[in-house]
Amino acid sequence: SNANLYAVLQGGFPKDRSKVALETPDLEYTWDDIDRATACLANLLTSLDLPAGSRVAVQVEKSPEALLLYLATLRAGLVYLPLNTAYRESEIEYFLGNAEPAVVVCASKNRDWVQRAADRAGCAHVYTLDEDRTGSLLDAAGTLPQTFTTVTRQPDDLAAILYTSGTTGRSKGAMLSHGNLAANARVLHEYWGWREDDVLLHMLPIFHVHGLFVASHGALLAGAKMIWLPKLDADLALHYLPQSTVMMGVPTYYVRLLADSRFDSSVCANMRLFISGSAPLLAETFSDFHKRSGHAILERYGMSETVMLTSNPYSASQGERLAGTVGRALPGVQVRVVDDAGIALAPGEIGNVQVRGPNVFSGYWRMPEKTREEFTEDGWFKTGDVGRWGGESAGRDVPADYLSIVGRSKDLIISGGFNVYPKEIETLIDDMPGVAESAVIGVPHPDFGEAVVAVVVPKDGVSLDAAAMQLELKSRIANFKVPKRVHIIDQLPRNTMGKVQKNVLRETYQAL
Ligand code: ATP
Ligand code: MG
Repeated sequence: SNANLYAVLQGGFPKDRSKVALETPDLEYTWDDIDRATACLANLLTSLDLPAGSRVAVQVEKSPEALLLYLATLRAGLVYLPLNTAYRESEIEYFLGNAEPAVVVCASKNRDWVQRAADRAGCAHVYTLDEDRTGSLLDAAGTLPQTFTTVTRQPDDLAAILYTSGTTGRSKGAMLSHGNLAANARVLHEYWGWREDDVLLHMLPIFHVHGLFVASHGALLAGAKMIWLPKLDADLALHYLPQSTVMMGVPTYYVRLLADSRFDSSVCANMRLFISGSAPLLAETFSDFHKRSGHAILERYGMSETVMLTSNPYSASQGERLAGTVGRALPGVQVRVVDDAGIALAPGEIGNVQVRGPNVFSGYWRMPEKTREEFTEDGWFKTGDVGRWGGESAGRDVPADYLSIVGRSKDLIISGGFNVYPKEIETLIDDMPGVAESAVIGVPHPDFGEAVVAVVVPKDGVSLDAAAMQLELKSRIANFKVPKRVHIIDQLPRNTMGKVQKNVLRETYQAL
Protein backbone atom coordinates (compact mmCIF):
# COMPACT_ATOMS: atom_id res chain seq x y z
CA SER A 1 0.00 0.00 0.00
CA ASN A 2 0.99 3.58 -0.54
CA ALA A 3 2.06 5.58 2.54
CA ASN A 4 1.89 8.83 0.56
CA LEU A 5 -0.08 11.24 2.76
CA TYR A 6 -2.27 12.21 -0.18
CA ALA A 7 -3.32 8.58 -0.61
CA VAL A 8 -4.05 8.39 3.12
CA LEU A 9 -6.18 11.54 3.05
CA GLN A 10 -7.90 10.46 -0.13
CA GLY A 11 -8.95 7.29 1.68
CA GLY A 12 -11.24 9.55 3.73
CA PHE A 13 -12.86 11.42 0.83
CA PRO A 14 -16.63 10.77 0.61
CA LYS A 15 -18.04 8.19 -1.80
CA ASP A 16 -20.01 10.88 -3.54
CA ARG A 17 -17.25 12.95 -5.13
CA SER A 18 -19.72 15.51 -6.45
CA LYS A 19 -20.21 16.86 -2.93
CA VAL A 20 -18.65 20.20 -2.02
CA ALA A 21 -15.20 19.92 -0.46
CA LEU A 22 -14.21 23.58 -0.33
CA GLU A 23 -16.45 26.61 -0.27
CA THR A 24 -15.39 30.24 -0.55
CA PRO A 25 -17.68 33.30 -0.60
CA ASP A 26 -17.85 33.00 -4.39
CA LEU A 27 -16.86 29.47 -5.43
CA GLU A 28 -17.37 25.81 -4.64
CA TYR A 29 -14.92 22.98 -5.28
CA THR A 30 -16.11 19.38 -5.26
CA TRP A 31 -14.01 16.37 -4.26
CA ASP A 32 -13.75 15.57 -7.97
CA ASP A 33 -12.40 19.08 -8.55
CA ILE A 34 -9.73 18.44 -5.91
CA ASP A 35 -8.76 15.20 -7.57
CA ARG A 36 -8.57 16.72 -11.06
CA ALA A 37 -6.84 19.98 -10.12
CA THR A 38 -4.20 18.26 -7.98
CA ALA A 39 -3.63 15.86 -10.89
CA CYS A 40 -2.94 18.75 -13.31
CA LEU A 41 -0.56 20.38 -10.83
CA ALA A 42 1.17 17.07 -10.02
CA ASN A 43 1.61 16.46 -13.75
CA LEU A 44 3.26 19.86 -14.05
CA LEU A 45 5.63 19.18 -11.15
CA THR A 46 6.48 15.74 -12.51
CA SER A 47 7.19 17.17 -15.97
CA LEU A 48 10.06 19.17 -14.45
CA ASP A 49 11.86 15.88 -13.89
CA LEU A 50 13.22 16.80 -10.48
CA PRO A 51 15.42 14.60 -8.32
CA ALA A 52 13.77 12.80 -5.40
CA GLY A 53 13.45 14.94 -2.29
CA SER A 54 13.23 18.22 -4.23
CA ARG A 55 11.58 21.05 -2.32
CA VAL A 56 8.67 23.11 -3.62
CA ALA A 57 8.79 26.42 -1.75
CA VAL A 58 5.55 28.37 -1.68
CA GLN A 59 4.88 31.92 -0.52
CA VAL A 60 1.38 32.82 -1.71
CA GLU A 61 -1.77 34.30 -0.22
CA LYS A 62 -4.26 31.75 1.05
CA SER A 63 -6.60 30.48 -1.66
CA PRO A 64 -8.13 27.12 -2.59
CA GLU A 65 -5.41 26.76 -5.24
CA ALA A 66 -2.72 27.16 -2.59
CA LEU A 67 -4.17 24.13 -0.79
CA LEU A 68 -4.38 22.26 -4.11
CA LEU A 69 -0.71 23.01 -4.73
CA TYR A 70 0.16 21.52 -1.33
CA LEU A 71 -1.80 18.37 -2.10
CA ALA A 72 -0.33 18.15 -5.60
CA THR A 73 3.18 18.36 -4.18
CA LEU A 74 2.39 15.39 -1.92
CA ARG A 75 0.91 13.48 -4.85
CA ALA A 76 4.01 14.09 -6.94
CA GLY A 77 6.16 12.79 -4.08
CA LEU A 78 7.99 16.10 -3.65
CA VAL A 79 8.61 18.06 -0.45
CA TYR A 80 6.29 20.96 0.37
CA LEU A 81 7.82 24.02 1.98
CA PRO A 82 5.38 26.80 2.89
CA LEU A 83 6.62 30.26 3.79
CA ASN A 84 4.96 32.95 5.90
CA THR A 85 3.38 35.56 3.63
CA ALA A 86 4.78 38.32 5.84
CA TYR A 87 8.39 37.50 4.93
CA ARG A 88 10.16 40.08 2.75
CA GLU A 89 13.19 39.88 0.52
CA SER A 90 15.98 39.42 3.07
CA GLU A 91 13.99 36.75 4.89
CA ILE A 92 13.02 34.91 1.72
CA GLU A 93 16.63 35.05 0.68
CA TYR A 94 17.62 33.24 3.89
CA PHE A 95 14.91 30.59 3.49
CA LEU A 96 15.57 29.91 -0.18
CA GLY A 97 19.31 29.86 0.43
CA ASN A 98 18.82 27.40 3.29
CA ALA A 99 16.25 25.17 1.61
CA GLU A 100 17.54 25.30 -1.98
CA PRO A 101 14.16 24.48 -3.46
CA ALA A 102 13.82 23.24 -7.03
CA VAL A 103 10.57 25.15 -7.50
CA VAL A 104 9.41 28.45 -6.03
CA VAL A 105 5.83 29.66 -6.26
CA CYS A 106 5.16 33.26 -5.25
CA ALA A 107 2.60 36.05 -5.53
CA SER A 108 2.95 37.95 -8.80
CA LYS A 109 3.34 41.21 -6.89
CA ASN A 110 6.55 39.81 -5.32
CA ARG A 111 7.82 38.18 -8.47
CA ASP A 112 10.80 40.52 -9.00
CA TRP A 113 12.48 40.10 -5.65
CA VAL A 114 11.55 36.46 -5.27
CA GLN A 115 13.13 35.80 -8.67
CA ARG A 116 16.34 37.49 -7.49
CA ALA A 117 16.44 35.33 -4.35
CA ALA A 118 15.59 32.20 -6.38
CA ASP A 119 18.41 32.95 -8.83
CA ARG A 120 20.89 33.29 -6.00
CA ALA A 121 19.68 29.97 -4.55
CA GLY A 122 20.10 28.28 -7.91
CA CYS A 123 16.39 27.60 -8.33
CA ALA A 124 15.41 27.21 -11.98
CA HIS A 125 11.61 27.15 -11.76
CA VAL A 126 9.72 30.19 -10.50
CA TYR A 127 5.94 30.38 -10.91
CA THR A 128 3.32 32.83 -9.74
CA LEU A 129 -0.04 32.11 -8.12
CA ASP A 130 -2.53 34.75 -7.02
CA GLU A 131 -5.72 34.58 -4.94
CA ASP A 132 -7.87 35.19 -8.03
CA ARG A 133 -6.82 31.95 -9.76
CA THR A 134 -4.35 33.68 -12.07
CA GLY A 135 -0.61 33.29 -12.49
CA SER A 136 1.88 31.27 -14.47
CA LEU A 137 1.48 28.15 -12.32
CA LEU A 138 -2.16 27.59 -13.29
CA ASP A 139 -1.44 28.66 -16.88
CA ALA A 140 1.17 25.92 -17.15
CA ALA A 141 -0.85 23.25 -15.30
CA GLY A 142 -4.25 24.00 -16.81
CA THR A 143 -3.61 22.20 -20.11
CA LEU A 144 -2.17 19.04 -18.56
CA PRO A 145 -4.06 15.74 -18.01
CA GLN A 146 -6.57 15.62 -15.16
CA THR A 147 -5.49 12.19 -13.98
CA PHE A 148 -2.37 11.28 -12.07
CA THR A 149 -1.22 8.19 -10.23
CA THR A 150 -0.12 9.32 -6.78
CA VAL A 151 3.59 8.56 -6.39
CA THR A 152 4.35 5.77 -3.91
CA ARG A 153 6.10 6.94 -0.76
CA GLN A 154 7.33 5.15 2.34
CA PRO A 155 6.29 6.35 5.81
CA ASP A 156 9.79 7.77 6.45
CA ASP A 157 9.98 9.74 3.21
CA LEU A 158 9.98 13.49 3.65
CA ALA A 159 6.62 15.17 2.95
CA ALA A 160 7.16 18.72 4.15
CA ILE A 161 9.60 21.12 5.74
CA LEU A 162 7.93 23.56 8.08
CA TYR A 163 9.89 26.49 9.37
CA THR A 164 9.11 27.19 13.03
CA SER A 165 7.55 30.52 13.91
CA GLY A 166 10.85 32.06 15.01
CA THR A 167 9.44 33.10 18.39
CA THR A 168 12.62 32.28 20.29
CA GLY A 169 15.25 32.82 17.59
CA ARG A 170 15.93 32.10 13.97
CA SER A 171 13.35 29.79 12.36
CA LYS A 172 14.40 26.18 11.90
CA GLY A 173 13.10 23.87 9.18
CA ALA A 174 11.32 20.91 10.77
CA MET A 175 11.46 17.85 8.49
CA LEU A 176 8.18 15.95 8.62
CA SER A 177 7.57 12.64 6.90
CA HIS A 178 4.42 11.22 5.30
CA GLY A 179 4.26 8.85 8.27
CA ASN A 180 4.56 11.65 10.86
CA LEU A 181 1.68 13.58 9.32
CA ALA A 182 -0.53 10.57 8.64
CA ALA A 183 -0.11 9.26 12.20
CA ASN A 184 -1.19 12.57 13.69
CA ALA A 185 -4.07 13.06 11.26
CA ARG A 186 -5.45 9.61 12.12
CA VAL A 187 -5.18 10.15 15.87
CA LEU A 188 -6.92 13.53 15.73
CA HIS A 189 -9.61 12.11 13.45
CA GLU A 190 -10.58 9.67 16.21
CA TYR A 191 -9.93 11.90 19.18
CA TRP A 192 -11.95 14.90 18.02
CA GLY A 193 -14.73 12.80 16.54
CA TRP A 194 -14.46 14.05 12.95
CA ARG A 195 -17.45 13.17 10.75
CA GLU A 196 -18.29 13.42 7.08
CA ASP A 197 -21.12 15.84 7.82
CA ASP A 198 -18.80 18.23 9.67
CA VAL A 199 -18.24 21.69 8.25
CA LEU A 200 -14.91 23.24 9.22
CA LEU A 201 -14.69 27.03 9.35
CA HIS A 202 -11.11 27.43 8.12
CA MET A 203 -9.73 30.93 8.70
CA LEU A 204 -6.13 30.13 9.68
CA PRO A 205 -3.10 30.80 7.50
CA ILE A 206 -1.79 27.73 5.69
CA PHE A 207 1.95 28.35 5.98
CA HIS A 208 1.86 26.95 9.52
CA VAL A 209 1.20 23.57 11.15
CA HIS A 210 -2.10 24.72 12.66
CA GLY A 211 -3.94 25.68 9.48
CA LEU A 212 -2.12 23.46 6.98
CA PHE A 213 -2.00 20.19 8.91
CA VAL A 214 -4.24 20.15 11.97
CA ALA A 215 -7.20 21.89 10.35
CA SER A 216 -6.97 20.83 6.69
CA HIS A 217 -6.00 17.22 7.31
CA GLY A 218 -8.84 16.87 9.80
CA ALA A 219 -11.47 17.89 7.26
CA LEU A 220 -9.88 16.07 4.30
CA LEU A 221 -9.49 12.78 6.14
CA ALA A 222 -13.11 13.02 7.31
CA GLY A 223 -14.36 13.89 3.84
CA ALA A 224 -15.88 16.98 5.46
CA LYS A 225 -16.47 20.34 3.82
CA MET A 226 -14.28 23.32 4.58
CA ILE A 227 -15.41 26.92 4.41
CA TRP A 228 -12.22 28.47 3.18
CA LEU A 229 -11.61 32.08 4.20
CA PRO A 230 -8.34 33.98 3.78
CA LYS A 231 -8.23 35.16 7.40
CA LEU A 232 -10.32 35.93 10.45
CA ASP A 233 -12.84 38.57 9.45
CA ALA A 234 -15.55 39.05 12.07
CA ASP A 235 -18.32 39.72 9.53
CA LEU A 236 -17.51 36.61 7.51
CA ALA A 237 -16.99 34.49 10.61
CA LEU A 238 -20.41 35.50 11.95
CA HIS A 239 -21.93 34.83 8.54
CA TYR A 240 -20.50 31.30 8.30
CA LEU A 241 -20.57 30.14 11.93
CA PRO A 242 -24.28 29.18 11.84
CA GLN A 243 -23.58 26.63 9.09
CA SER A 244 -20.33 25.32 10.61
CA THR A 245 -19.70 22.54 13.11
CA VAL A 246 -15.97 22.94 13.84
CA MET A 247 -13.73 26.00 14.15
CA MET A 248 -10.04 26.18 14.88
CA GLY A 249 -8.27 29.35 15.88
CA VAL A 250 -5.39 30.93 17.69
CA PRO A 251 -6.43 32.57 20.99
CA THR A 252 -6.72 36.02 19.43
CA TYR A 253 -9.51 34.71 17.15
CA TYR A 254 -11.60 33.95 20.21
CA VAL A 255 -10.82 37.33 21.73
CA ARG A 256 -11.92 38.96 18.47
CA LEU A 257 -15.20 37.03 18.36
CA LEU A 258 -15.94 38.00 21.97
CA ALA A 259 -15.28 41.64 21.14
CA ASP A 260 -18.17 41.52 18.65
CA SER A 261 -21.55 42.05 20.31
CA ARG A 262 -23.28 40.01 17.58
CA PHE A 263 -21.48 36.87 18.72
CA ASP A 264 -23.77 34.74 20.92
CA SER A 265 -25.01 31.19 21.41
CA SER A 266 -27.53 31.37 18.56
CA VAL A 267 -24.69 31.91 16.09
CA CYS A 268 -23.16 28.67 17.43
CA ALA A 269 -26.34 26.58 17.22
CA ASN A 270 -24.75 24.09 14.81
CA MET A 271 -21.25 24.08 16.30
CA ARG A 272 -19.90 21.01 18.02
CA LEU A 273 -16.27 22.01 18.59
CA PHE A 274 -14.14 25.12 19.04
CA ILE A 275 -10.40 24.38 19.19
CA SER A 276 -7.59 26.71 20.25
CA GLY A 277 -3.84 26.42 20.05
CA SER A 278 -0.49 27.88 18.90
CA ALA A 279 -0.34 30.13 21.96
CA PRO A 280 -1.78 30.00 25.49
CA LEU A 281 -5.50 30.69 25.81
CA LEU A 282 -6.20 32.94 28.78
CA ALA A 283 -8.47 31.42 31.43
CA GLU A 284 -10.58 34.55 31.17
CA THR A 285 -11.11 34.06 27.43
CA PHE A 286 -12.10 30.44 28.10
CA SER A 287 -14.70 31.42 30.70
CA ASP A 288 -16.03 34.48 28.83
CA PHE A 289 -16.44 32.32 25.74
CA HIS A 290 -18.24 29.66 27.73
CA LYS A 291 -20.64 32.19 29.19
CA ARG A 292 -21.44 33.79 25.85
CA SER A 293 -21.61 30.76 23.56
CA GLY A 294 -22.24 27.80 25.85
CA HIS A 295 -19.08 26.17 24.46
CA ALA A 296 -15.94 25.18 26.38
CA ILE A 297 -13.05 25.83 23.98
CA LEU A 298 -10.91 22.72 23.56
CA GLU A 299 -7.27 23.74 24.02
CA ARG A 300 -4.56 21.54 22.58
CA TYR A 301 -0.79 21.77 22.35
CA GLY A 302 1.72 21.00 19.65
CA MET A 303 4.44 22.49 17.48
CA SER A 304 5.95 22.43 14.00
CA GLU A 305 8.36 19.65 14.97
CA THR A 306 5.74 17.25 16.29
CA VAL A 307 2.32 18.33 15.06
CA MET A 308 -0.16 17.72 17.92
CA LEU A 309 0.91 16.30 21.27
CA THR A 310 -1.81 16.80 23.85
CA SER A 311 -5.48 17.70 23.86
CA ASN A 312 -8.20 18.45 26.33
CA PRO A 313 -10.90 15.77 26.18
CA TYR A 314 -13.47 15.82 23.43
CA SER A 315 -16.38 14.07 25.10
CA ALA A 316 -17.59 14.69 28.63
CA SER A 317 -17.23 10.98 29.37
CA GLN A 318 -13.45 11.36 28.91
CA GLY A 319 -13.25 14.29 31.31
CA GLU A 320 -13.62 18.04 31.54
CA ARG A 321 -11.92 20.70 29.43
CA LEU A 322 -9.93 22.73 31.90
CA ALA A 323 -8.86 26.33 31.33
CA GLY A 324 -5.12 26.90 31.42
CA THR A 325 -4.31 23.27 30.66
CA VAL A 326 -3.58 21.54 27.36
CA GLY A 327 -5.06 18.21 28.41
CA ARG A 328 -3.76 14.68 28.07
CA ALA A 329 -1.14 13.13 25.81
CA LEU A 330 -2.81 12.00 22.57
CA PRO A 331 -3.01 8.25 22.01
CA GLY A 332 0.35 6.93 20.85
CA VAL A 333 2.17 10.09 21.94
CA GLN A 334 4.47 9.94 24.95
CA VAL A 335 4.96 13.10 27.00
CA ARG A 336 7.18 13.48 30.05
CA VAL A 337 8.14 16.33 32.35
CA VAL A 338 11.72 16.07 33.58
CA ASP A 339 14.27 18.11 35.50
CA ASP A 340 17.52 19.28 33.91
CA ALA A 341 19.12 15.91 34.71
CA GLY A 342 16.37 14.10 32.83
CA ILE A 343 14.61 12.69 35.91
CA ALA A 344 10.81 12.47 35.66
CA LEU A 345 9.06 14.89 37.99
CA ALA A 346 6.03 14.30 40.19
CA PRO A 347 2.70 15.98 39.44
CA GLY A 348 2.75 19.64 40.47
CA GLU A 349 6.47 20.01 39.81
CA ILE A 350 7.62 22.22 36.98
CA GLY A 351 10.13 20.96 34.43
CA ASN A 352 11.07 20.40 30.79
CA VAL A 353 8.51 18.88 28.46
CA GLN A 354 9.91 16.05 26.29
CA VAL A 355 8.04 13.93 23.78
CA ARG A 356 8.29 10.81 21.68
CA GLY A 357 5.99 9.22 19.15
CA PRO A 358 5.24 8.43 15.50
CA ASN A 359 4.36 12.10 14.98
CA VAL A 360 7.77 13.45 16.04
CA PHE A 361 9.95 14.85 13.24
CA SER A 362 13.30 13.40 12.24
CA GLY A 363 15.35 16.56 12.59
CA TYR A 364 15.97 20.13 11.53
CA TRP A 365 16.76 20.68 7.88
CA ARG A 366 20.51 21.14 7.43
CA MET A 367 21.09 21.58 11.18
CA PRO A 368 22.57 18.25 12.34
CA GLU A 369 24.19 19.91 15.40
CA LYS A 370 20.96 21.52 16.52
CA THR A 371 19.08 18.28 15.89
CA ARG A 372 21.50 16.32 18.08
CA GLU A 373 21.18 18.91 20.86
CA GLU A 374 17.40 18.80 20.86
CA PHE A 375 17.05 15.03 21.20
CA THR A 376 18.04 13.05 24.30
CA GLU A 377 20.18 9.95 23.89
CA ASP A 378 17.13 7.75 24.29
CA GLY A 379 15.23 9.54 21.56
CA TRP A 380 13.03 12.07 23.34
CA PHE A 381 12.58 15.45 21.66
CA LYS A 382 13.17 18.43 23.92
CA THR A 383 10.26 20.74 23.14
CA GLY A 384 11.80 23.79 24.79
CA ASP A 385 8.55 24.23 26.71
CA VAL A 386 8.30 24.15 30.47
CA GLY A 387 5.26 22.52 32.04
CA ARG A 388 3.80 20.37 34.77
CA TRP A 389 1.32 17.58 35.25
CA GLY A 390 -1.70 18.25 37.43
CA GLY A 391 -1.40 21.03 39.97
CA GLU A 392 -3.90 23.83 39.99
CA SER A 393 -5.25 26.05 37.23
CA ALA A 394 -7.83 28.84 37.25
CA GLY A 395 -8.78 27.91 40.81
CA ARG A 396 -9.35 24.25 39.98
CA ASP A 397 -7.47 21.10 40.88
CA VAL A 398 -6.08 19.60 37.70
CA PRO A 399 -5.94 15.80 37.25
CA ALA A 400 -2.41 14.41 37.28
CA ASP A 401 -2.58 13.31 33.63
CA TYR A 402 -3.39 16.81 32.36
CA LEU A 403 -0.44 18.91 31.18
CA SER A 404 -0.14 22.66 31.71
CA ILE A 405 2.41 24.70 29.76
CA VAL A 406 4.05 27.23 32.04
CA GLY A 407 6.21 28.89 29.40
CA ARG A 408 9.31 28.35 27.35
CA SER A 409 12.64 27.46 28.87
CA LYS A 410 14.18 30.41 27.02
CA ASP A 411 11.74 32.76 28.79
CA LEU A 412 12.51 31.43 32.24
CA ILE A 413 13.94 34.16 34.46
CA ILE A 414 16.77 33.53 36.91
CA SER A 415 16.88 36.35 39.41
CA GLY A 416 19.43 36.24 42.22
CA GLY A 417 19.84 32.52 41.60
CA PHE A 418 16.11 31.81 41.91
CA ASN A 419 13.93 30.49 39.10
CA VAL A 420 11.01 32.69 38.23
CA TYR A 421 8.29 31.27 35.99
CA PRO A 422 6.74 34.18 34.09
CA LYS A 423 3.37 32.45 33.89
CA GLU A 424 2.94 32.47 37.68
CA ILE A 425 3.29 36.24 37.84
CA GLU A 426 1.34 36.81 34.63
CA THR A 427 -1.58 34.85 36.08
CA LEU A 428 -1.59 37.01 39.23
CA ILE A 429 -1.44 40.20 37.20
CA ASP A 430 -4.12 39.06 34.75
CA ASP A 431 -6.45 38.47 37.71
CA MET A 432 -6.12 42.07 38.91
CA PRO A 433 -9.07 44.35 38.12
CA GLY A 434 -8.76 46.29 34.88
CA VAL A 435 -6.00 44.11 33.40
CA ALA A 436 -6.55 42.67 29.93
CA GLU A 437 -3.28 40.75 29.68
CA SER A 438 0.36 40.84 30.60
CA ALA A 439 3.81 39.53 29.78
CA VAL A 440 6.57 39.03 32.31
CA ILE A 441 10.18 39.06 31.12
CA GLY A 442 13.69 39.01 32.50
CA VAL A 443 16.08 41.85 31.74
CA PRO A 444 19.78 42.12 32.61
CA HIS A 445 20.46 43.35 36.15
CA PRO A 446 23.92 44.09 37.62
CA ASP A 447 23.23 42.45 41.02
CA PHE A 448 20.62 39.78 40.33
CA GLY A 449 21.73 38.63 36.89
CA GLU A 450 18.22 39.17 35.68
CA ALA A 451 15.41 41.27 37.05
CA VAL A 452 11.70 40.66 36.62
CA VAL A 453 9.83 43.21 34.51
CA ALA A 454 6.11 43.19 33.75
CA VAL A 455 4.45 44.65 30.69
CA VAL A 456 0.73 45.09 31.24
CA VAL A 457 -2.15 45.89 28.90
CA PRO A 458 -5.20 47.50 30.59
CA LYS A 459 -8.76 46.74 29.58
CA ASP A 460 -10.36 49.35 27.33
CA GLY A 461 -10.82 52.67 29.07
CA VAL A 462 -9.06 51.64 32.30
CA SER A 463 -6.00 53.45 33.60
CA LEU A 464 -3.77 51.25 35.74
CA ASP A 465 -1.49 52.27 38.59
CA ALA A 466 1.86 50.52 38.17
CA ALA A 467 3.06 51.28 41.72
CA ALA A 468 -0.15 49.93 43.24
CA MET A 469 0.22 46.75 41.23
CA GLN A 470 3.77 46.26 42.52
CA LEU A 471 2.57 46.77 46.10
CA GLU A 472 -0.22 44.27 45.64
CA LEU A 473 2.23 41.70 44.22
CA LYS A 474 4.65 42.35 47.13
CA SER A 475 1.99 41.27 49.56
CA ARG A 476 1.39 38.02 47.68
CA ILE A 477 4.70 36.64 46.37
CA ALA A 478 8.36 36.50 47.31
CA ASN A 479 10.23 39.71 46.72
CA PHE A 480 12.54 38.27 44.04
CA LYS A 481 9.47 37.53 41.91
CA VAL A 482 7.97 41.03 42.19
CA PRO A 483 8.55 43.03 39.01
CA LYS A 484 11.13 45.76 39.49
CA ARG A 485 9.27 47.70 36.80
CA VAL A 486 5.72 47.56 35.52
CA HIS A 487 5.22 49.08 32.08
CA ILE A 488 1.66 49.85 31.01
CA ILE A 489 1.22 49.63 27.24
CA ASP A 490 -1.66 49.45 24.74
CA GLN A 491 -0.91 46.13 23.13
CA LEU A 492 1.59 43.27 23.33
CA PRO A 493 3.73 42.62 20.23
CA ARG A 494 2.52 39.43 18.53
CA ASN A 495 3.59 37.54 15.45
CA THR A 496 1.17 36.27 12.80
CA MET A 497 0.29 33.18 14.83
CA GLY A 498 -0.77 35.32 17.77
CA LYS A 499 2.33 34.50 19.82
CA VAL A 500 3.64 37.17 22.18
CA GLN A 501 7.13 38.16 21.08
CA LYS A 502 8.99 38.24 24.36
CA ASN A 503 12.30 38.76 22.56
CA VAL A 504 10.92 42.07 21.27
CA LEU A 505 9.76 43.03 24.79
CA ARG A 506 13.15 42.11 26.27
CA GLU A 507 14.85 44.38 23.80
CA THR A 508 12.42 47.27 24.30
CA TYR A 509 12.43 47.18 28.09
CA GLN A 510 15.99 46.06 28.83
CA ALA A 511 16.88 49.35 30.53
CA LEU A 512 15.66 49.34 34.12
P1 ATP B 1 10.55 28.87 17.38
O1 ATP B 1 10.66 27.41 17.66
O2 ATP B 1 11.12 29.24 16.06
O3 ATP B 1 11.03 29.73 18.50
P2 ATP B 1 7.71 28.55 17.86
O4 ATP B 1 8.12 27.54 18.87
O5 ATP B 1 6.75 29.62 18.32
O6 ATP B 1 8.98 29.25 17.23
P3 ATP B 1 5.82 26.89 16.47
O7 ATP B 1 6.30 25.53 16.13
O8 ATP B 1 4.91 27.57 15.53
O9 ATP B 1 7.08 27.82 16.61
O10 ATP B 1 5.09 26.91 17.86
C1 ATP B 1 5.17 25.88 18.81
C2 ATP B 1 5.12 26.46 20.20
O11 ATP B 1 3.87 27.14 20.42
C3 ATP B 1 5.17 25.43 21.28
O12 ATP B 1 6.49 25.00 21.55
C4 ATP B 1 4.56 26.18 22.46
O13 ATP B 1 5.52 27.02 23.09
C5 ATP B 1 3.53 27.07 21.79
N1 ATP B 1 2.17 26.51 21.93
C6 ATP B 1 1.45 25.81 21.03
N2 ATP B 1 0.24 25.50 21.52
C7 ATP B 1 0.20 26.02 22.78
C8 ATP B 1 -0.77 26.05 23.83
N3 ATP B 1 -1.96 25.51 23.68
N4 ATP B 1 -0.44 26.67 24.98
C9 ATP B 1 0.77 27.23 25.15
N5 ATP B 1 1.72 27.25 24.21
C10 ATP B 1 1.44 26.66 23.04
MG1 MG C 1 9.64 26.14 18.87
